[in-house]
Amino acid sequence: MNQEYKVIIEKVKADKDSVKKAFVKMKKKKPKEIDQLFHSRHETFFQKNSCLDCANCCKTTSPIFRDVDIKRISKQLKMKESQFINQFLRMDEENDYVLMSSPCTFLNNDNTCSIYQFRPLACAEYPHTNRKNMNQIFDLTLNNTEICPAVATIVSEIILEV
Ligand code: SF4
Ligand code: SF4
Repeated sequence: MNQEYKVIIEKVKADKDSVKKAFVKMKKKKPKEIDQLFHSRHETFFQKNSCLDCANCCKTTSPIFRDVDIKRISKQLKMKESQFINQFLRMDEENDYVLMSSPCTFLNNDNTCSIYQFRPLACAEYPHTNRKNMNQIFDLTLNNTEICPAVATIVSEIILEV
């Protein structure tokens, strides 16, 4: 992750109380209005920045592997599902399958994903800042400010407006 990304993540981390207060204030807005605040900034961030310069989510956290993800990925890798689970996954406290090790086994040195075309849905949806009903995932978004520079940037801009 480049220095600029690290700085924005640290800045938002230090200002977490302001973010929490802003999220409480934001809940008074209409869900559509909240979505618009996030979605427009999501577009802008990813027009100017590439995940290939970062990969911090792949390096530090694990997606959830749903049964359908396991089925699809193991089929593509020509492995038995049980073999895939035994080799790469563990069950977490919430009984979800997650990666056994971090950084992700499927992350290449150039930050590309070796299973990109059939990666878990959780990877495809991350960092969730273009999702509908952002008002329902404020806690997740707050957590993601510590991982993803896109989320940290988007949130740091939004709290100045609410
Ligand atoms: S989603 Fe966020 S943390 Fe993951 S690579 Fe892209 S910018 Fe980095
Ligand atoms: S499967 Fe691919 S996108 Fe998902 S965490 Fe691993 S490297 Fe990243």
